[in-house]
Amino acid sequence: MMLTEDRLRAYMKCPAFFHYGGTVELPLKTAIIEMIYIQMTLALMKYAERWVYQDLLSRCIEQFPRRMDLDPAEHNIPVLQKDAAIIIDELFQVLQPKMYIPIFGPYQQPIQISRSHFTPRIAAVLHRPINTQDEIHAITFSPFNTVRDMENDLIQQIKVMALDSWLPMRTQYKKNGRTVLHIVGAQGKDLVYTNLSHKWSEDKKGWAHYLSRPIKAIEAHYDYPITPCAYSCPYKTICKPDPFRTPILLEESS
Ligand code: SF4
Repeated sequence: MMLTEDRLRAYMKCPAFFHYGGTVELPLKTAIIEMIYIQMTLALMKYAERWVYQDLLSRCIEQFPRRMDLDPAEHNIPVLQKDAAIIIDELFQVLQPKMYIPIFGPYQQPIQISRSHFTPRIAAVLHRPINTQDEIHAITFSPFNTVRDMENDLIQQIKVMALDSWLPMRTQYKKNGRTVLHIVGAQGKDLVYTNLSHKWSEDKKGWAHYLSRPIKAIEAHYDYPITPCAYSCPYKTICKPDPFRTPILLEESS
């Protein structure tokens, strides 16, 4: 089974929501910021001499409604463009391209867990050598818009713990480095930003366990509804617990 972050988060929200095909996607404004960030980062880092930041920003802002096929009848495009320009500008003040060396952008390598493949959402992976240690910086965009929810998101915690072991060239780096995961969201015209970090010398065995539990539960079709359910959900009318079905209990060691 191929699992994206959107689908795995859907399972973590509610197993039945996943079963009915639900996804926890990026809100529109965050998806816009992610697309522009990827476009600008690649251009600025690979061809920095060709681009003036402000020209590149204007070009990306002008292009995104067409690239994302946004209907002007449905969306207020000028407001989206204005808000996106403010947020992106703020984001590039936090993550200044001249401080990093690009490694991947975006990084979409599936990781095999049990019988499934999970693809983390990572917009870019950057390297920052600092004196005696290396730093790997990953930029990711979150469906949540509060720092608390972003930091408590299990998928982000797994990413920061495991990223260096997922990268194919990890042996090139010094042993005493660390990974910094920059988590980005948007609320109105405000950037919502936080970061998590993990020293490579710290224990990282936990990530495989945390990731394999929900994935094995998905593979075992453990897809029961939450009862009672307080979510506003498109599947409310069809979602009913089946009293004749016995839940599959997962082994503690699985
Ligand atoms: S209505 Fe509630 S329990 Fe049913 S699928 Fe939606 S979130 Fe899950």
